[in-house]
Amino acid sequence: MARFDAIILGYGPVGAMAAGLLAGRGWQVAVIDRMADVYPLPRAVRFDGEVMRMFQELGIADEINAQCTPILGAEFVDANNKRLEGFDLLADLTDASGWSISSMFHQPLMERTLRTRVEAFDGVTTYISHEAGTPVQTDEGVRIDLTPVEGGASFSLEADYLIAADGASSPVRKALGFELVSLGYDCDWIVVDVLLKRDVPGLSAIAQQICDPDRIVTYVPVVGMRRRWEFRLNPGEVKEAMTNDATIWEMLKPWVGPDDAVIERAAGYQFHAAIADQWRDRRIFLAGDAAHQTPPFLGEGMCTGLRDVVNLVWKLDMVKRGLADDHLLETYQTERAPHALDLIDFAVETGKLMDQIAEAHVTGDWPTSYAAAYGGDRGYPHLHGGVLALQENDPSDGVTGFQGAQASVRMNGAELARLDDLAQANFHIISTQDLSPQIKDGHKAFLDFIGAKFFVLETEARVTPELDALLAKYDAIIVRPDRYVFGVVDGNTSLEDQLTKLQSHFRT
Ligand SMILES: Cc1cc2nc3c(=O)[nH]c(=O)nc-3n(C[C@H](O)[C@H](O)[C@H](O)COP(=O)(O)OP(=O)(O)OC[C@H]3O[C@@H](n4cnc5c(N)ncnc54)[C@H](O)[C@@H]3O)c2cc1C
Repeated sequence: MARFDAIILGYGPVGAMAAGLLAGRGWQVAVIDRMADVYPLPRAVRFDGEVMRMFQELGIADEINAQCTPILGAEFVDANNKRLEGFDLLADLTDASGWSISSMFHQPLMERTLRTRVEAFDGVTTYISHEAGTPVQTDEGVRIDLTPVEGGASFSLEADYLIAADGASSPVRKALGFELVSLGYDCDWIVVDVLLKRDVPGLSAIAQQICDPDRIVTYVPVVGMRRRWEFRLNPGEVKEAMTNDATIWEMLKPWVGPDDAVIERAAGYQFHAAIADQWRDRRIFLAGDAAHQTPPFLGEGMCTGLRDVVNLVWKLDMVKRGLADDHLLETYQTERAPHALDLIDFAVETGKLMDQIAEAHVTGDWPTSYAAAYGGDRGYPHLHGGVLALQENDPSDGVTGFQGAQASVRMNGAELARLDDLAQANFHIISTQDLSPQIKDGHKAFLDFIGAKFFVLETEARVTPELDALLAKYDAIIVRPDRYVFGVVDGNTSLEDQLTKLQSHFRT
C-alpha cells in the first residue's frame, strides 16, 4: 500500500493549495478527486491580498496576478441605480499585503495554474478521476480506499494525516458525524457568466448590489470581457426552470442582449451560511467548503478555505518535524472557526441588507445602518487567541492576530525583494534595530530550533511603505509562518516576554 505524509481529499482550490504548501515543505502528498478536471461552473471571481501571498509562497503570484484585474470599487444601489453606500479605488492601489485589495479572476484558469505548480513538486502524486471511500483511522495513520471512476480495481492509500477539502457536501464531514450548523441564510440564486462581444455603454466599471424590489441582482465586472450577473430568485421561482437561455436573456435585458454578449455558463445555486461544529478528528482535518459555507456577497468563501490550509499546514509541519506537540493542532479550529464565522455572519448581514433595501422601496422602512454594505464600516475579522501573544479576553492592539504587512525591501545592497520571499514562511522578527543582543541564550536556542529569521529594516531598506507606520510605533513585530502577527514589542511589552509566550507552544 502506498504511504504518504498526507492525503488531500478534494482537488478544488483549497485542496490544491494544501497540497502545494505541504509539498513546498518537503511532504509526500497524495491528492484525490473524482472529477477529471477543475469545476467548470461559475463560482469565485474575487480574492484578496492575503490569498495572493499564498500564491507568492508557491512562486506563482506574478503569473496569477497577470491573469487578474484589480477591483475598481463596489457599491449598493437602489432600484434607480442611486448609490446608497460604496467605494471607488485606483487600479494600482495596493494594501498592506503589498498586493491589490481585491483581485478579480477566472477561477478555472487560476485553478489550472495552481495545479500545474502543485504537480511540479516531486512530492505530489495525484489521483484524478478516483472516487474516495470513507477514511479509516488507526494508531499508525489514516487509510482510504480509492476506486477509479472509469472502472478498474480499488486500492488503498495510507498517510499520517488526511485533509478533507471535499467541498460543501463533504462525505468525510458526514462520515465523522460532524454537524453542519446553519447560520440563517438559504436562498436560491441563478449565477450567469457572460462574455461581452464589444464594450457596452452604461455597464458599471465597479461591482454593484442592485437592491431592486422586482429582483435583487449582483453585477460584477470580472476580467477582460467577462461579466457576472447573479439573480436572486423571487418566491415561486424554481432554479431548475430558470437556467435556460430564454429566461437568462430576459433577466439580462436591462444590461445586455444577444447582440452584445454570449452566455458563457450559468448555474442555479442555493447560497448557504453554515459552519461545521467540529473540524478535526485525530488525524483528519476539514478545510474549505467542507468546514464552512458562506453566501458569496463578500467574495470570501474560497479565501476563507485557503486561510484554513495556510493555518493548518505550518502547524502540521511543526508537529511532524518534532518542534511542537499534537496540542498545537488543536489551535487550528480555535483560531480558524471564529474567524470564518465572523465573515459568514458579515456576508449574511450583507444579504439581509440587500433584502431590507429592496423591501424599503415598497414599505418605506429604509435601513438605519449601512455598516454591512460595501464601503460600510463593518471591519474584517482577526484571530482572537491561539498561537498569539494576546488571547481572547485581552484588548486588541489592532496588530496582533491580523495579517502582517509586506514591504518590498533591499537589504544590504541586495536585490529588491518582497519580504515574504525572504522570510519563506518561517517565524520572523522585524525591527529597525538589531535586537539580538537583548535575547537571552535560551530564547536564542529556541528561535534557532524553530528556524526563525530576523529582518533589521532601517528606513533605507524599506523601498515601499507598508511597514513604515508599524515600525514607527513598535520596536519589533513577531510574524508567524502564515504571516499573521504573533505579537508586537514596545515600551510595555518586552521581546523576552513575547518569546516566552511563543515558546510555550513548542517543544524545547
Ligand atoms: C456563485 C459563487 C460565487 C463565489 N464567489 C466567490 C468569490 O468571489 N471569492 C471567494 O473567495 N469565494 C467565492 N465563492 C466560494 C468558492 O467558490 C468556494 O468556497 C470554493 O471554490 C470551494 O473550494 P473547496 O476546495 O473547498 O471545495 P470544491 O472546489 O468544491 O472542491 C471539493 C472537491 O472534492 C471532490 N470530492 C468530494 N468528495 C470526493 C470523493 N469522495 N472522492 C473524490 N473526490 C471528492 C469534488 O469532486 C471537488 O472537486 C463563490 C461560490 C459561488 C457558488
